[in-house]
Amino acid sequence: MNSTKYIFVTGGVTSSLGKGIISASLAKLLQARGYNVTIQKFDPYINVDPGTLNPYEHGECFVTDDGAETDLDLGHYERFLNVPTSQANNVTTGRIYQSVINKERKGDYLGKTVQIIPHITDEIKRRMKLLGKTGEFDVIITEIGGTIGDIESLPYIETVRQLKWELGQDALVIHLTLVPFLAAAGELKTKPTQHSVKMMLENGVQPDVLVLRTEHPLSDEIRKKVALFCNVKPTSVIESIDVPTIYDVPIKMCEEKLDETVLEKLNLPLKNKPELSAWKKFLSTLKNPKYEVNIALVGKYVELHDAYKSISESLLHAGVANKAKVNIHWIHSEPLNDKNIEEKLKNMNGVLVAPGFGHRGIEGKLTAVKYARENNIPFLGICLGMQCAVIEFARNVLNLEGAHSTEMSRRTPFPVIDLMEEQKDVLDMGGTMRLGSYPCRLREGSNASKAYKSLDIKERHRHRYEFNNKFLKDFENAGMIGTGVNPNTSLIEIVEIPSHKWFVGVQFHPEYKSTVLNPHPIFVEFINASLKK
Ligand code: GLN
Repeated sequence: MNSTKYIFVTGGVTSSLGKGIISASLAKLLQARGYNVTIQKFDPYINVDPGTLNPYEHGECFVTDDGAETDLDLGHYERFLNVPTSQANNVTTGRIYQSVINKERKGDYLGKTVQIIPHITDEIKRRMKLLGKTGEFDVIITEIGGTIGDIESLPYIETVRQLKWELGQDALVIHLTLVPFLAAAGELKTKPTQHSVKMMLENGVQPDVLVLRTEHPLSDEIRKKVALFCNVKPTSVIESIDVPTIYDVPIKMCEEKLDETVLEKLNLPLKNKPELSAWKKFLSTLKNPKYEVNIALVGKYVELHDAYKSISESLLHAGVANKAKVNIHWIHSEPLNDKNIEEKLKNMNGVLVAPGFGHRGIEGKLTAVKYARENNIPFLGICLGMQCAVIEFARNVLNLEGAHSTEMSRRTPFPVIDLMEEQKDVLDMGGTMRLGSYPCRLREGSNASKAYKSLDIKERHRHRYEFNNKFLKDFENAGMIGTGVNPNTSLIEIVEIPSHKWFVGVQFHPEYKSTVLNPHPIFVEFINASLKK
């Protein structure tokens, strides 16, 4: 193939229509036809990356192998496509401006007035084409965050206009809108879509394909009407009806021929029919589970499920691998105490303590760990959850009163979790944690090695604090052992209690690497152990 093709996905009418899922589904279909595809997301906010954002603002922060802190949609891209993304796959307005301002300070603009057009749009354009330049991909799908009409997304839409003009047949715009159902009138309404496309046109961009999110099937009449008002063919009006799981969307989009429409418009051969047999098998197991398992997800952001997106998806993947439906019980850690813990956790088959930062809700997490440890309930602690397992063990088994992480208590007499040496001089908050993929060596015979069926693994990280190795001997003598260690730094990556049914704490984030076709072994074994309880 000679040139990389570019597909831009924009959204109108409201946010949360599922642009990320549509992009990932289209990418999946093209991949299943034999194309090399990647997806990138351009986010219009001013933060340089979402790493410093509170999860209540923007949901989970997803981390790539190369240590980028990114939007949670990148997690969907990886889970659907089963290929890793990187730093280049997520760009924000903050990063664009940062580059332009740095260039201006260096004098690169030779005294010219620096403006949104062309300087900001040129930088957006450069970044949009970056992955295409690698020659690795046949098709690059670019999702533009936000909704058409937002002031913040204007420079991106303007860049799409310029690129469409430059690239001609090699570029295409998909616009996603909502077709609301008015119960009183008993009708689906197309006006918001017409307005949304008008707004795109005001900005000089004619969408090539419209994807209409709807609760009810679209009649031919509606498709024709939208086509007529929005200058597209009726076959380019694609229905995106609500489905029980996001993993149904590629199948729906295939039925709607979104992939065929797109390939024809880009002048690309259809190649083979999409190879989706493994995907369909996953869906069929998901919908016909043999077993059921109750998992407590203990965290402090549980009101917002998006804050734990990769974890809940990983649990679902692992459930399918075990032919089980996983019922996630979202348990807020703040109100947990010795009095109510039994009530909250007694019917659980497994307990997962989530990652997190700061003091809020920490004592409740420790209470949950204690209950799982003492009652032999399968336990998985992730990052802060692993650190909680260490603190709880120090306090209640080693009797180190007041043991803590120095993140929560600077002056604890027993800093069993402490700031990493390399973090001690860090002042900036953005992008400065221990981020991305690091190697880990597993102890033979451990739960971890049984799960991975290997002794050398690589996992992604996002933390500043670590297990304090000064205490390692005491822990191991009392029955909590380090079963995963960074071979270069001796940093403890995994702790386990071998006398317990299944008790594993991991300093890294296995949830970032679980995909539909490759459920993560740690989650698979956690669910397996929970099913036995
Ligand atoms: N706050 C802890 C640390 O920085 C854990 C971070 C996390 O759970 N991602 O080490």
